[in-house]
Amino acid sequence: MGNENDPNTQNGSGDNKMAEDTRAKKKWTLDNFEIGKPLGKGKFGNVYLAREKESKFIVALKVLFKSQLQKAGVEHQLRREIEIQSHLRHENILRLYGYFYDDKRIYLILEYAPRGELYKELQRNEKFPEGRSATYVYQLADALEYCHSKKVIHRDIKPENLLLGLRGELKVADFGWSVHAPTSRRNTLCGTLDYLPPEMVEGRPHDERVDLWSLGVLCYEFLVGHPPFETASHNDTYRRIARVDLRFPNFVSEEATDFIRKLLRHDPAQRLPLQQVKVHPWIVTNASMSAPSTAKAATTMSRINNNNKTTPAS
Ligand code: ATP
Ligand code: MG
Repeated sequence: MGNENDPNTQNGSGDNKMAEDTRAKKKWTLDNFEIGKPLGKGKFGNVYLAREKESKFIVALKVLFKSQLQKAGVEHQLRREIEIQSHLRHENILRLYGYFYDDKRIYLILEYAPRGELYKELQRNEKFPEGRSATYVYQLADALEYCHSKKVIHRDIKPENLLLGLRGELKVADFGWSVHAPTSRRNTLCGTLDYLPPEMVEGRPHDERVDLWSLGVLCYEFLVGHPPFETASHNDTYRRIARVDLRFPNFVSEEATDFIRKLLRHDPAQRLPLQQVKVHPWIVTNASMSAPSTAKAATTMSRINNNNKTTPAS
């Protein structure tokens, strides 16, 4: 039987075959693959559509140049990315099936995301309706809940790192900044500050609740078309994040506003936990859930309701 979660209609058993071979620590080489069109360009190399010859299973092959990784000093980060992503199994997390290398390059065998980047979809549409936004937020919350249960924090949730599966379902990719929780590490921040919480821009210790903040930022961006603390300068963005200077255009509904405000709290302990994210009224009324997700939501609901019965009414 094929894997129900397999987004590749092409060959349901290919996914299992791929997973089995990976478990058996099969030694992959470039010879195992037929290389197709380029899918995109990354910082350290390119991504190609590819097909495993024996199973005919379609994958995305990410090719990284060792020289460039070394020059940037990110070999350690890549090793962590591989270690973490290859162990995660969730329908909203991009699978990493395995890797191999030659003299000059490192190859990552990734699940192919046929509908490409969410970032581009957002640009094309300018912003998303509440239903579509809530659906993505629900899927992301479910994926993050799974990561956190494995003590993995993503730390780099933004539209550029989200891909779309065959049925338009969200796939979290790019675990390059992820770590095992908790961490007091001060990381050099490169790129945009927009999605980072106060504790990270201020260089304080942080835990998995950084991902709750980013989820709030992302939800705002889906609905409004740009992230909430965006300014022309790094310093101004920093100040707006530290003060939680949050403003909503009129067209954002009251329930959506309430939802986002509950995630964008300066104090990590005050942020809405993922289990409650998934049953917040804005999510429940707006997210369209696929059959397995709906079943899961129903279970979560009844669990929460049962818990409530045992706690004194407030
Ligand atoms: P950066 O750090 O600049 O984002 P990167 O090295 O992380 O670059 P990726 O973002 O992983 O590179 O890949 C580059 C592009 O290739 C993506 O933006 C996307 O368009 C495409 N791509 C990557 N992985 C896949 C995939 N699994 N399925 C489909 N397209 C992909
Ligand atoms: Mg990327």
